[in-house]
Amino acid sequence: MAELSPVLKQATPVLAARGEGVHLYDEQDRRYLDFTAGIGVTSTGHCHPRVVEAAQRQVGTLIHGQYTTVMHRPLLRLTERLGEVLPDGLDRLFYVNSGSEAVEAAVRLARQATGRQNIIAFQGGFHGRTMGAGALTSSGTKVRSGIGPMMPGVAFAPFPETYRHGWSETEAVRFALGELDQLLVTVSSPRDTAAIIVEPVLGEGGYIPAPPEFLAGLRDRADRHGILLILDEVQTGVGRTGRFWGHEHAAIRPDILITAKGLASGFPLSAIAAGQELMSRAWPGSQGGTYGGNAVAAAAAVATLDVVRDENLVANAAEQGSRLREGLHKVAAEHPVIGDVRGLGLMLANEFTTPDGQPDTTTATRAHAAAAERGLLLLTCGPHGNVVRMIPPLIVTADQVDEAVGLWSQAVHDAVSA
Ligand code: PMP
Repeated sequence: MAELSPVLKQATPVLAARGEGVHLYDEQDRRYLDFTAGIGVTSTGHCHPRVVEAAQRQVGTLIHGQYTTVMHRPLLRLTERLGEVLPDGLDRLFYVNSGSEAVEAAVRLARQATGRQNIIAFQGGFHGRTMGAGALTSSGTKVRSGIGPMMPGVAFAPFPETYRHGWSETEAVRFALGELDQLLVTVSSPRDTAAIIVEPVLGEGGYIPAPPEFLAGLRDRADRHGILLILDEVQTGVGRTGRFWGHEHAAIRPDILITAKGLASGFPLSAIAAGQELMSRAWPGSQGGTYGGNAVAAAAAVATLDVVRDENLVANAAEQGSRLREGLHKVAAEHPVIGDVRGLGLMLANEFTTPDGQPDTTTATRAHAAAAERGLLLLTCGPHGNVVRMIPPLIVTADQVDEAVGLWSQAVHDAVSA
């Protein structure tokens, strides 16, 4: 009898049978509050009726029209709808299936457009598990360990981290930008540097928001040296941070933006957006793939964007995010093992630390498991796995936030008294 490979590490023993809104149900019909949203994917909640209806209709009409052979209406409609929410000037799009593929596509685009090879990424960043995206990832050695050599031409600069170093934001930004400037002199000359790729909030790396001055500093270096700035909005896009795009908190302009996860409410789809002039420097036919921009996924994405607009989900993410943050701060105030509560919008995290400031992975793991036992599904992150994050669907209500905070408080109590 075949079994699933242990390379797929499952964080909880839950066998999901169905999903509805912010809830998942197992095969015994036990209900869980899903504050993972499938790693932020089910932005409109599980099986939102409008997304289900759009996908069902599309399945009965045209499942697949390979976009390098024939075009189809759902992808044109999606492109039009994304045009309404993307920053000005990012008006050329193409599609693939996952965040990792979109990262790889952005790298190919940047290299072709600039004729340069190197990419600067950040320590603690996560961009995927494929060989190219993995080469840009440093948030956990498990993604890279034992599979090298990785794609060459990648240099890592430090990300501004206040909590870890006990620094103010200004100090952290000054250090990180100083190191980046040094890197551009010693390791990757601007003449060889195609792009800088950055997440508006370090995701897998521990839910650390990039300070606005840091992103502005990157924009400045990019402009000064003709380097492209790639914003990896795979985790932060489509309202997650309380703005439509995570980089809006810094009011900067990306050259290339990539989005995935929340875009199609669970269907595999990712988009790469850039300006017309930049896209025209890439070679036609050098991007895309068999399933990219699948018609059902595209129809689900159009419905997702409609739901996000019609149900004011970006504003809801900001509002419920503040409420959740307040609740998490109260829990942290009762439990010194939670050293930091941080994040943006509905992308929030609790960092567990020992009294001497070291990562407390044991208690974080216990709290994560205790929450699942009590019916609250969460995720861990950070290089040490000592950060417990909360990313509910954007439709979450105040009552559900309060319920989750109550369960979290009990779970942390369970974990510290174990
Ligand atoms: N970029 C970021 C910021 C991510 O968080 C992830 C996934 N966690 C990826 C890229 C890779 O996406 P995927 O798993 O869809 O390949």
